[in-house]
Amino acid sequence: MRIIVCVKQVPDTTEVEIDPKTGTIIREGVPSMLNPFDEFALNEAIRIRGTGQIEIVALTMGPPQAEEALFKCLAIGADRAVLLSDRAFAGSDTWATSLALSRAIEAVGDYCAVFCGHQATDGDTAQVGPEIARQLGIPQMTYVEKVEELDGKSVTCLKETDEGYVRLKAKLPALVACISPSSFVPIIPKMGQILKAKKKTIEKWGADKVAKPGDKFGLDGSPTQVVKTYPPPKKKGGGVKISDPPDAAVRKLVEYLRKEGLVR
Ligand SMILES: Cc1cc2nc3c(=O)[nH]c(=O)nc-3n(C[C@H](O)[C@H](O)[C@H](O)COP(=O)(O)OP(=O)(O)OC[C@H]3O[C@@H](n4cnc5c(N)ncnc54)[C@H](O)[C@@H]3O)c2cc1C
Repeated sequence: MRIIVCVKQVPDTTEVEIDPKTGTIIREGVPSMLNPFDEFALNEAIRIRGTGQIEIVALTMGPPQAEEALFKCLAIGADRAVLLSDRAFAGSDTWATSLALSRAIEAVGDYCAVFCGHQATDGDTAQVGPEIARQLGIPQMTYVEKVEELDGKSVTCLKETDEGYVRLKAKLPALVACISPSSFVPIIPKMGQILKAKKKTIEKWGADKVAKPGDKFGLDGSPTQVVKTYPPPKKKGGGVKISDPPDAAVRKLVEYLRKEGLVR
């Protein structure tokens, strides 16, 4: 039995810059990291498998440098890592991405669950997890904050909602899309784990390894197109700054709010 964890390498910055000519994210010179939601999903997979005989496979689709994210997964505790990389995948929208990932999941085979993050911090669509479940024809649980139980037949999860929590149970195989709670403390791999990970080989698969007849990936297989990407216009004025000593500042602030009709 296997848990396949889908992970994405994302820019390690909140200052994402857009190339004004191409409308794409500038990735050159920007440090990368493992998407935080995916790191939590991997931690949940490791925690819930306990000492059982479940193999954990980290899977990413991305450029060759996405290997770094997979290496981190191996160091954290994944048993295997698969990098899906091919020019045929370039320009994939979320649907084409989820098709490629689903095909890779089928090629890995013998999975009892697919874990992924709720969303990637760069693309931010939160579509890939549910789309994978749709492509594989398996049940899905989203907004999962805790995987409570995984036995041979089902998985039970705690899902966050606006009102609190809901406990859900699904037949296996199922997809679990995780959000990370604020209390989440990432595992820092020990030196021994890093050295062990270095001895492992990251499996590199191209489109020919996973494609089924009629599959379309990349731009060809993408029903949506990004028409334009641009940052929001910079705000003019930048607000009002009051830098008087505290008592005078409070008086000035109240005067200002009254003048603007925001308080009476
Ligand atoms: C029309 C269009 C064209 C695009 N063209 C390009 C392009 O040319 N080049 C490019 O780099 N991007 C392109 N993208 C972006 C690309 O489609 C998304 O990066 C990708 O589909 C993932 O979507 P997301 O980041 O919103 O992930 P989300 O749906 O927010 O991610 C949810 C979860 O899915 C899993 N996941 C997401 N992506 C991956 C992945 N690649 N590997 C493994 N797991 C994953 C992770 O567990 C993640 O936490 C394009 C998007 C669109 C809509």
